[in-house]
Amino acid sequence: MIVLKSRDEIKRMRAAGKVVAEVLAALREMIVPGVTTAELDRFAEDECRRRKVKPAFKGYGGFPFTICASPNEVVVHGFATDTPLVEGDILSIDFGVVKDGFYGDSAFTVPVGRVCKERERLLEVTESALEAAILAALPGGRLSDISHAVQSCVEREGFSVVREFVGHGIGRQLHEAPQIPNFGSPGQGPRLKPGMTLAIEPMINAGGHGVKILEDGWTAVTLDGKPSAHFEHTVVITENGPEILTRL
Ligand code: MG
Ligand code: MG
Repeated sequence: MIVLKSRDEIKRMRAAGKVVAEVLAALREMIVPGVTTAELDRFAEDECRRRKVKPAFKGYGGFPFTICASPNEVVVHGFATDTPLVEGDILSIDFGVVKDGFYGDSAFTVPVGRVCKERERLLEVTESALEAAILAALPGGRLSDISHAVQSCVEREGFSVVREFVGHGIGRQLHEAPQIPNFGSPGQGPRLKPGMTLAIEPMINAGGHGVKILEDGWTAVTLDGKPSAHFEHTVVITENGPEILTRL
């Protein structure tokens, strides 16, 4: 069942989303050659403590970190490590909190220093796929309009959509119904309604769409070792269209 949120609940989700956006904005500034993802993770955890919110991921199904730190060929759910980032890497950071009973969830991928053309384009295309998907989250539309917007954006650029991981409803739970695949034909699935709160999150590979999970049970990497990007926002559907809750 898809839980519609009341005006008051949306207000609380807006507050949770704002914290996520602020912490991610600070993390973004820290991502330079030489920094480690363990440092980024500690920063995020300290910020949660300081702001009196709970990290959404730490402990979720046993996940051991506050952020998911996924460099290069890591698709999602990467562990923070003490390996310094180097110029030419790309890094995805996924971060969420629960505040006042409600979750916010957002992710971005950034270049570390200067990166090659292909990686630059991968980031641009994945971010614009998220924008297109959000614009498709219209009251009266269908869920798969969102999925289709991502897929068409990405495949015309020669990149591929990860199948194994999907976006999701979000609210009092980190993962609520519905699941939101990043592929599919439009006009299918539940009708989109005001009060729906969705975490829309294209995960896009430069090469083939295949992924595998490493021995740690979490880290998802591309099968072909090519880079992958991830952008995510928590969005509420209103009568007037989508409102992004995790953007400053
Ligand atoms: Mg996320
Ligand atoms: Mg998510």
